Amino acid sequence: MAVDTAAYREVTEDQQAILEMVRQFADEQIIPNAEHYDHEDEFPEPIVEQMKELGLFGVTIPEEYGGMGLDLTTYAMIVEELSRGWISISGVVNTHFIGSYLLMKFGTEEQKQYFLPKMATGEIRAAFSLSEPEVGSDVQGIKATAKQDPNGDWELNGQKMWVTNGLGSGVVFVLMKSDPKAEPAYKGMTCFITEKEPWKEVNEGKFAGLTVPPKIKKMGYKGVESTELVYDGYRCPPDRVLGGPDGVGKGFSQMMDALEVGRVNVAARGVGIAQRALELALRYSQERKAFGKPIAQHQAIQFKLADMATKIEAARLVTRKAARMKDAGERSDLEAGMAKLLASETGRDCVEESFRIHGGYGYSKEYEIERLYRDAPLLLIGEGTSEIQRMVIGKKLLQRYKI
Ligand SMILES: Cc1cc2nc3c(=O)[nH]c(=O)nc-3n(C[C@H](O)[C@H](O)[C@H](O)COP(=O)(O)OP(=O)(O)OC[C@H]3O[C@@H](n4cnc5c(N)ncnc54)[C@H](O)[C@@H]3O)c2cc1C
Repeated sequence: MAVDTAAYREVTEDQQAILEMVRQFADEQIIPNAEHYDHEDEFPEPIVEQMKELGLFGVTIPEEYGGMGLDLTTYAMIVEELSRGWISISGVVNTHFIGSYLLMKFGTEEQKQYFLPKMATGEIRAAFSLSEPEVGSDVQGIKATAKQDPNGDWELNGQKMWVTNGLGSGVVFVLMKSDPKAEPAYKGMTCFITEKEPWKEVNEGKFAGLTVPPKIKKMGYKGVESTELVYDGYRCPPDRVLGGPDGVGKGFSQMMDALEVGRVNVAARGVGIAQRALELALRYSQERKAFGKPIAQHQAIQFKLADMATKIEAARLVTRKAARMKDAGERSDLEAGMAKLLASETGRDCVEESFRIHGGYGYSKEYEIERLYRDAPLLLIGEGTSEIQRMVIGKKLLQRYKI
């Protein structure tokens, strides 16, 4: 049962048409099949194939490179609907979207021509890799290195962690330390576009030196794989530095820029999972009876529903605002941080409230809310934890309102 909030949304006719298409896809293809793929922790290949046909891997890629050329706002609306179906599905496109953003904003024309058309169709999918076993929030602390040979090629060495789509991707945008002596450290970091064989654990030939260990076992966010990546003497030609030779030493700022749109994307996922939790709570609370009436008729339950719906609407609006500002070319780091913080916490809160409304059945795998309960916490972590968002917001506030 979908809750219609259309009256509160400012959407164009085109956006509305796309949203209806994606919502129908989520209702008919994602929701009924999510339990199977979650239970088996299996990559949802048939669903992903349909997403390719719908063009969902090229939403923001310009039409000249084979994509739909839509803006971040429309993309965020699509992600909300996919995530309402299952956040793992939005995880399959998330790092891909970040990779295409990096190429569109910083790539050379040759890099765009080579990668974007294949990415727009989903022929290859992209992963995005900053984190390492000892480093997550403090990105400047990465240890993996890139060293340039006299012939110009780069040799990459080091271990990366938590790479979403780490095995199935055909290209990984990876941050490496290219100048270990740089002060401050971020000035010595470079983003490399590393190609690999999709679904191959040990790469050979021109991609030799990149190994993908077995996927990490997780409490939720199943179906989409999270892996380590081991770079051990991987050769990267100089034209695979993001932005070409000028991109050397710019990787940190490029990746941080991409994280800003990534935060809007995670915020949209928070809204989507919260919306689904509300829908499930609305349905269950009208079906389940206690003390002679549907539990929805008990005021305490209505208050929970009211709080959930109110928080979701607020999170949706701030997410759309951050996206619209970015689309308008305005600085939106503060708003993206607020959106990510509010929407991911709203996702967690609403899932927990819906879980409580389900009583004992919420603890049973028979009910969808059990999966949401395991999925929602991821959004508190990816693209920067809630603590990191508060740090970003606090710092930006003091910059904007300096006395
Ligand atoms: C399922 C999953 C998928 C992921 N996918 C990717 C991916 O595709 N690519 C990628 O690069 N990474 C990915 N990540 C990694 C993710 O970005 C990091 O886990 C996240 O940035 C947090 O880093 P950490 O886990 O090392 O925690 P830490 O940085 O070690 O933080 C631990 C705790 O300390 C807090 N903390 C840290 N610094 C401060 C501070 N200064 N002040 C207050 N509190 C602080 C944090 O908020 C957190 O609560 C993924 C993670 C998961 C779980």
